[in-house]
Amino acid sequence: MEELFADILVIGSGVAGSYAAMHAASRGAEVSLVTKTKLLSGSTRWAQGGIAFPSDPSDIPSHLMDTMKAGRGLVDERVSTAILTDALTEWKRLIELGITFDAHPALEGGHSKPRIQHIHGDESGLHLLTFLHHHLPPSVSILENQFAAELISCDGQLHGALLWKNGDPAEPVAVHAGATIIATGGIGQIYSFTTNPEEATGDGIALAYRAGAKVRDIELVQFHPTVLSNGGLISEACRGEGAVLLNGNRERFMLRYDEAGELAPRDIVSNSIYSEIIATGKVFLDLRPVNNLEHKFPTVYNSILNLGFNPLKEPIPIQPAAHFLMGGIATDEYGATSVANLFAAGEAASTGFHGANRLASNSLLEGLVMGSRAAEKAVASMPAAKRKIESNGVPGCAVQDQSVIRQIMERSASVMRDGKSLVNGFNEALSVKVVQATSAAEAETANMRLLALMVLKGALERKESRGSHSRSDYPQMSPDARHIDQQVENPGAIRDRRLESSGARDF
Ligand SMILES: Cc1cc2nc3c(=O)[nH]c(=O)nc-3n(C[C@H](O)[C@H](O)[C@H](O)COP(=O)(O)OP(=O)(O)OC[C@H]3O[C@@H](n4cnc5c(N)ncnc54)[C@H](O)[C@@H]3O)c2cc1C
Repeated sequence: MEELFADILVIGSGVAGSYAAMHAASRGAEVSLVTKTKLLSGSTRWAQGGIAFPSDPSDIPSHLMDTMKAGRGLVDERVSTAILTDALTEWKRLIELGITFDAHPALEGGHSKPRIQHIHGDESGLHLLTFLHHHLPPSVSILENQFAAELISCDGQLHGALLWKNGDPAEPVAVHAGATIIATGGIGQIYSFTTNPEEATGDGIALAYRAGAKVRDIELVQFHPTVLSNGGLISEACRGEGAVLLNGNRERFMLRYDEAGELAPRDIVSNSIYSEIIATGKVFLDLRPVNNLEHKFPTVYNSILNLGFNPLKEPIPIQPAAHFLMGGIATDEYGATSVANLFAAGEAASTGFHGANRLASNSLLEGLVMGSRAAEKAVASMPAAKRKIESNGVPGCAVQDQSVIRQIMERSASVMRDGKSLVNGFNEALSVKVVQATSAAEAETANMRLLALMVLKGALERKESRGSHSRSDYPQMSPDARHIDQQVENPGAIRDRRLESSGARDF
């Protein structure tokens, strides 16, 4: 087996992983930055809306208030204050490095003032990520097309990961690292209808869970309100610029649901659209009120044209789709997980910043700040890398087609949930056959199955409607806001089952 050594192993090259790698290297660490596809991969490159930086120190309380209002009682005020305070430091750092933000900050749903920074209009994510990659120093070794299959330990302590070169288990690469940072993004691919790219299969969360890390609030999945039939997203910023929602009778309806109308937080807009689709058959977004649409939002404009609609002439059919994971691997304010030497940042992590409903454009911000914080802590606390390898769980098991998982999730755990369909979905997902994986695609499917089971279990346990989690059988928000944690009691037991050729259940 090929063996590599690093001070810090970063899994995932989106905003959180790339920024973490940059920061760890700037603190003198030798870093391995791994991605299962290309360096420019993950959700970051598709982000359109921008980055929600507080405009100056006096804006922090208002940004915090907006974040907490959207998060419906589950936002951690202390962690969020720390993130918003550090945001200004990262903003200055990026400007010193030479990044250029567009001239005027924009307004988005749930924000009480315009504070969303764009880079080249609605291509903010792509330009941010390209900029970060351009600034990776030589002490960062980039490992592309390497699938992180499992975390490995030495003497009971986590020490890196096993990669499959080109996604092939026959080409294993062990990366021994003092500390590992998981930045593998979200889980949108467990749904049939999602804005997320194909990499978003929840691998890093599955790896961490199998290694014994605590996973928090994984049932809290945000559904973006305005998504085209091909999964293309129409940025919230379009509604900030005047776009309005119409129901099947071509009537505006949002003011009936919330006084902020089209600029209400995402959970309210998605639920309202869902209700109007049930009542009137369809919902449309009318972009004609947006001045200069084709120049301000070229990506949106072109993707609508590609679908055969002209947004300058007619309202466009839209619907909500799985978009962002608020829950994830539980971390403290420095990205440390419940497992020693294991850190998490970005969408794979649950810091408490997003609560039960992410405020628009707060995730790129969190990726930057927490990538930097996790790197700082990991470098300060890491032990030296060791040689011996102990496995930390199933590298993956083949199941049926990935679409089976997606259909189960779309049917049972989408915008509106209820106990009966959650139970049915859980039993269906549990009965999906599992065998030893022979490729990264099969391992991804096994990870998706595990994530689906966790989302369904968490959603069943959360007997209330809060933020993005809506249950028709529990329509009220319960008086006490609580987190739902899931953790393997005995990670070793999962490890022992990994060689079963069939019927192995990692849940
Ligand atoms: C269409 C769209 C628009 C969005 N718009 C905005 C916006 O305007 N503002 C905002 O703040 N947020 C936005 N978001 C959300 C935001 O983009 C994401 O939350 C954020 O980019 C996640 O960054 P990340 O670094 O955590 O993960 P990602 O950017 O998703 O990167 C994950 C990385 O992990 C790698 N990876 C995954 N599994 C493995 C594995 N097993 N082995 C090795 N590598 C692996 C992937 O290849 C990838 O490099 C948007 C999301 C989408 C999908």
